[in-house]
Amino acid sequence: MPNNQDPCAQPKLMHPDQAIEQLLAQVDATQDTELVTLNNAIDRVLAEDLASSIDLPPFDNSAMDGYAFRYVDLDLSQDKTTLTLIGSSFAGHPFKGKVQPNTCIRIMTGAPVPAGYDTVQMQEETQANGDSIMIVHPKKLGANVRGRGEELLAGTKVLHRGVTIRAAEMGVLATIGINQVRVTRKLKVAFFSTGDELRPVGSELSPGQIYDSNRYSIQGLLSKSHVEWIDLGVITDDKEAIRGAFKEAASKADMVLTSGGVSVGEADYTKQILSEEGQITFWKLAIKPGKPFAFGKIDNAIFCGLPGNPVSSMVTFYKLVLPILNKMQGITPKAPLLCQATLQTDIRKHPGRVEYQRGILSRNTSGELEVSITGGQGSGMLTSMSLANCFVILEQFQGDLAKGNTVTVEPFNSVLC
Ligand code: AMP
Ligand code: MG
Repeated sequence: MPNNQDPCAQPKLMHPDQAIEQLLAQVDATQDTELVTLNNAIDRVLAEDLASSIDLPPFDNSAMDGYAFRYVDLDLSQDKTTLTLIGSSFAGHPFKGKVQPNTCIRIMTGAPVPAGYDTVQMQEETQANGDSIMIVHPKKLGANVRGRGEELLAGTKVLHRGVTIRAAEMGVLATIGINQVRVTRKLKVAFFSTGDELRPVGSELSPGQIYDSNRYSIQGLLSKSHVEWIDLGVITDDKEAIRGAFKEAASKADMVLTSGGVSVGEADYTKQILSEEGQITFWKLAIKPGKPFAFGKIDNAIFCGLPGNPVSSMVTFYKLVLPILNKMQGITPKAPLLCQATLQTDIRKHPGRVEYQRGILSRNTSGELEVSITGGQGSGMLTSMSLANCFVILEQFQGDLAKGNTVTVEPFNSVLC
């Protein structure tokens, strides 16, 4: 139960929803746009509203392989009528003859229904005997005809600015005959890891060292966020090296993204250099994993500093950096699709922070949604993310929860999937 008086609550921590609002207020959508051909438009963000210049479909056409005829020619006192075959209409090859009473034409799916004919009977419900075609009566006038403009009329807005072009939009654009679109400029994000203990993969570990994993998970997240990324490697705890990396990153990119070194009391130079080189705020967020987060500007670049713990860095990216990147790219925000599921494991939670525990969401044999936690939830246990397909969201003042309770679940979106 939420309880605002909870003694364990940490009042100085900011709720992530409030943080997101404040962060988003500080970034602007890029105004830079470019024209790309449709072939290169996948995953780009549309920078203009687009209307169709044609009706869809552009002409009456058949939804079936069969025969087209005039409904008025059916003798409705019987259940069948025989009509005379006078030609055909195939996809891309319209019927060129003249429509006459008591006639029909052979017609294929997608082929134009000639003006005059109004109904199509599927082939399986007809019988051909030379030029005599016996039609079992269709239920209604207009059956199996896809009418011109029934999907939309010329002039209708089809796609809106801020939409990300997915496979469906690629097809929609082609359907309305558009072969180049104006999209927002692709953003550049330069990132590096900080920490003396970090070694790049491919090297030997000395005592006390670990492999730098964040750069790879961040690279994955950025690739799925459809930005260009620049990997500046691991920067050791050397004052001038860190300064140089920040300056280089800011000169090359729209966003500088780092992991590590933003914790309170961190004994490294990151914070000192950030205060000298940029206007940075260090936030303490009521979010677990992921409490520390830094945000601000270095020269003309936006700066986001993720915590070093591997799960924290992924969760903070997902919850905070992704909305920022989306806004900068001009993407119209979409609320995540949350659902409720029955907990299959007990959950341990201290009141005080919103927790994003990693879960596995599935449907049981009765079709109900169930979720279990992916084992240990330590903020360094990256396998908890790898096993998961969702977050179990536990509100700030929630305590422990027993198996059988209903919890809110956020299925991973395309950036995490
Ligand atoms: P920090 O945020 O720098 O205090 O780091 C918190 C924890 O995350 C420490 O255990 C670090 O060793 C670890 N860590 C920091 N950066 C990385 C990284 N790039 N890859 C893996 N672990 C990291
Ligand atoms: Mg560190």
